[in-house]
Amino acid sequence: MEKRIVALFSAVCILLGALLWRTMEVGRRQETQALQRAHTRVLTVGTSRGVIYDRNLQPLAPSDERLVAVVAPCEAAMQTMTALFGKDTAQQMLLRGAPCLANAETAAETPFVRTFSVPVRRGDSALAAHLIGTLNSESHGTCGIEKAFDTLLNGFGGSLSVRFAVDAAGRVLPGEAKEIIDRTFKSKGGVALTIDTELQRITEAALQNSRIQSGCAVIMDVQTGEIRAMASVPLFDTDAASPSLSPFTNKALGAYSVGSVFKPLLAAFALEHGVKRSFSYTCTGTCQIGETQFQCFGQKAHGKQTMKEALENSCNTYFIRLMQEIDETAFLSFCETLGFSRAIALCDGLSCSKGSLPAARDLLLPGERANFAFGQGKLLASPVQLLSVYQLLATGLQTPPTVLCGTVDEHGALQRETPFAPVRRLKETTVRQMRTLLAASAKAADTVGAGKTGTAQSGIFEAEKEVCRTWFAGFFPAKAPRYAAVILNENGVSGAVDCAPVFGEICRSLP
Ligand SMILES: [Zn+2]
Repeated sequence: MEKRIVALFSAVCILLGALLWRTMEVGRRQETQALQRAHTRVLTVGTSRGVIYDRNLQPLAPSDERLVAVVAPCEAAMQTMTALFGKDTAQQMLLRGAPCLANAETAAETPFVRTFSVPVRRGDSALAAHLIGTLNSESHGTCGIEKAFDTLLNGFGGSLSVRFAVDAAGRVLPGEAKEIIDRTFKSKGGVALTIDTELQRITEAALQNSRIQSGCAVIMDVQTGEIRAMASVPLFDTDAASPSLSPFTNKALGAYSVGSVFKPLLAAFALEHGVKRSFSYTCTGTCQIGETQFQCFGQKAHGKQTMKEALENSCNTYFIRLMQEIDETAFLSFCETLGFSRAIALCDGLSCSKGSLPAARDLLLPGERANFAFGQGKLLASPVQLLSVYQLLATGLQTPPTVLCGTVDEHGALQRETPFAPVRRLKETTVRQMRTLLAASAKAADTVGAGKTGTAQSGIFEAEKEVCRTWFAGFFPAKAPRYAAVILNENGVSGAVDCAPVFGEICRSLP
């Protein structure tokens, strides 16, 4: 009995001893780890994010690179440090002795100073800034493609760090090797857009050299519906308190008063439903509809107008009369089919504003019907929606407008999106007539290609003067169209003065 108690007591003692030893060992290990942590310093040279490419896999973002030097200050490195950062900075670095990062102008690779090339998301020469969008301080997209593809782009993100051994004071330990930690810093993965870098550059230059202070220009390939260029001015939101920090507006996605760029659609619908191009009306400069008097610009009496002349002169009263020749309810549902009053998605997570159409019951009112005939009243549309309409006028076909070419894997291989099948919505005979009519209308606006000007009242007043949305919408070349384009000035004089010259410059610069 006594022996058994002794045995039990010994066993308990051994167990307790083992436990105590284990606790001490864990404590000691933690202490050693903490000590090691105190004696290493990790510097993050740069972080990265998936690449945003154009249609030819040329990077749009990051748009630039800069050199970052990792420095382990010591006497032996002084010559390189002085050459890179100047004498004063080099001496301060040496005095502190701690490993550090510094921007460099030239590359260096010595045991103590080494430069790395770090991508800059949006450099000074960045293209398509409004479409690409911005990042917040945590490197998450806040608008545009950066937001729409945030998860994918973050998934391809990485970082580059350098670990140094340092003494208790944080100074570099001489003779200790540094360790470079590369966590997929330069993956090729990302997303490819339908933007064409050259066309984007042409469009941005044309817009920046124009009299448009606030507006946009958008270009589409009419065969595929792919957006080739999308540019806005100004670069930053000037209304915001801190322009350099505020997100900026992609005007191509906003909804605006449309005006006369809508008239060709009514003309095409009338032709499609049996109205002849020779249908005429004698304009006296004004017409009374119900209680409202409508007028042509400056109350000018245009005289006898056929469809061609009415488009060249942008005769409002002709189109008010033309509306009486068609079934306005059928026209309204045609507009809905084309994408008016619908937020068209350019890719998942990026859509234009819905805008608005008058309701069928509105069109029972003669005044509303007259307003709709020349693109005013309750009609609001985005430049993207109009671009889709001018693709239709150019080809008779419509494909959903898109900015997404495909996704790119980490090796740089493109997985292309399945292209949309075009839908025919206008007969070829109508299209041929529209090409001729709009070529004459563009010539009347003193520009090339085919298209129509617009100057729309917005109902918004600034300093007792109404803000006018001015437009040019068209396609190029007139006979065998390749591109459709929409130019908008948010606060302009007229479509012919503000926007037609931008359209002309883009068309003349096209490769
Ligand atoms: Zn007129």
